[in-house]
Amino acid sequence: MKRYKAYCFDLDGTVYRGNQGIESAIAFIHKLQREGIEPFYVTNNSSKTPIQLQQKLATLGIDAPTDHIYSSASVTATYISEKFPQQKVQLIGSDGIQEALESQGIHITDEADAKVFVMGIDREVNYSKLANACLAVQKGAHLIGTNEDIKFPSEQGFVPGNGSFVKLVASVAGVEPVFIGKPSPIILEAIASAHHYCKNDMVMIGDNYQTDILCGIRFGCDTIHVNTGVTSTEQVLLQKDQPTYCLRSLDEWQ
Ligand SMILES: [Mg+2]
Repeated sequence: MKRYKAYCFDLDGTVYRGNQGIESAIAFIHKLQREGIEPFYVTNNSSKTPIQLQQKLATLGIDAPTDHIYSSASVTATYISEKFPQQKVQLIGSDGIQEALESQGIHITDEADAKVFVMGIDREVNYSKLANACLAVQKGAHLIGTNEDIKFPSEQGFVPGNGSFVKLVASVAGVEPVFIGKPSPIILEAIASAHHYCKNDMVMIGDNYQTDILCGIRFGCDTIHVNTGVTSTEQVLLQKDQPTYCLRSLDEWQ
């Protein structure tokens, strides 16, 4: 099996499930670190800051530098500061995205004169917040979603993800939003450009075909699917575009 310079791990379903670590992934990460390779972590979760994610990984025995943790929130902030420098931003979202924007010096406003409207998951979202977003985008604000996940699992069944609300605003305002998180390749492009890797050096590892594997395929790097989370190996084998490797778990990696 090929060796890479940059191993990019999805988190939920790949490195842990809830608060439970996935032993095969943790052992693989430790092995890479012993060989001098510091892995990257790539998550669509915009509600946690890189420091909160670092703390969570530490509880599982993984030592991860924050500059190797890429959340859709931190990459959204970088994307806005590069594409819309000095512009005011309006926001629906929680701590993770707000902190990410503020830490890059982005001016968050409540006034209706923003050039960019950012949406991340907000569990207190309501009609008036969504109506404001629709109006701001009709006035010309660029609509950016931290991720396009339509739903995510809860104990009782699926509940709405951020993508559901972004698509609502986009269809009222009649625009195409930009999504930052997986399967958009923007998050892997950010790693490649910040750490000077080419696509051949990189591999994306994840449990979710629709987000992790498609993100790697769209970016143009190799991919490893692991059968430890959302998409089963059997479901992956039915897809037209196959991952480079399909593993039950990372214990199978030689
Ligand atoms: Mg996952």
